[in-house]
Amino acid sequence: MSGRHNAPRPVIICGNWKMNTTPLDAAMLANDIAGATDVPGVTRVICPPFICLQAVVTALADTDVAVGVQNIHAEPFGAYTGEVSAPMVAQLASWAIIGHSERRRDQGEDDALVGRKLLRCAEFGLRPILCVGEQIDDRQAGRAEATVRRQLERTLNEIERVAARLPEDLVIAYEPVWAIGTGLTARGSDASAMAQLIRDTLAAAGVAAKASHVPVLYGGSVTSAAIDEFLAEPEIDGALVGGASLKVDEMAGIVARAGITAAARQAA
Ligand code: PEP
Repeated sequence: MSGRHNAPRPVIICGNWKMNTTPLDAAMLANDIAGATDVPGVTRVICPPFICLQAVVTALADTDVAVGVQNIHAEPFGAYTGEVSAPMVAQLASWAIIGHSERRRDQGEDDALVGRKLLRCAEFGLRPILCVGEQIDDRQAGRAEATVRRQLERTLNEIERVAARLPEDLVIAYEPVWAIGTGLTARGSDASAMAQLIRDTLAAAGVAAKASHVPVLYGGSVTSAAIDEFLAEPEIDGALVGGASLKVDEMAGIVARAGITAAARQAA
């Protein structure tokens, strides 16, 4: 694994509940997942809908499961009806998914906006999971790597434009768009190659000292049956899990497999 001469990269399993659950059942689900996934060495994160945030924070108060949000606005306060910002969620949550492909698709989020959101995470102490990934036609045309490189470069350019630094604790999720919610998964070897490309792109952009430490997760139809293919790859540091993160048994299986990788990294 890159960075093997230093502390191993953490193994992270993050559940993205998307627009599912209500406050009452979110609290119960969070509680059940926490109880079924208490595996040493695995960083667990649950990202419920905003409206369920307080309920999930309360349910997880006595656990070490972290809570995140699925999005933040790029501005901290202002006349943005219906939006939620970093300083608001930072009083409850500690992580934030940024640039998920469903927001890029449905809300037209572009790489520059995503870059400004990353800066808000740094400003208000949220640990960002930046999502990147290609469409199916990009992969079929052999453009997958160029697409992901371009997404990252444009995001980094925006950060540079406002003369700020990349968040120190950045996590990246490689999520091929064609694999999200479709039951299709990438090949582990392709995800591994993409993780390497992501770290190379960060290094080329001047974050070389840290690039090898940036955790890269895989996302796209991860289940307890599919996770092994990805965690068998030393370049992959965990998963961003959508649909399966709503199922306690699935999360138990996924985190149990992640625990094997975490233990092996500690022993190496
Ligand atoms: C996601 O929401 O980021 C995701 C990968 O979803 P799914 O696991 O359902 O494909």
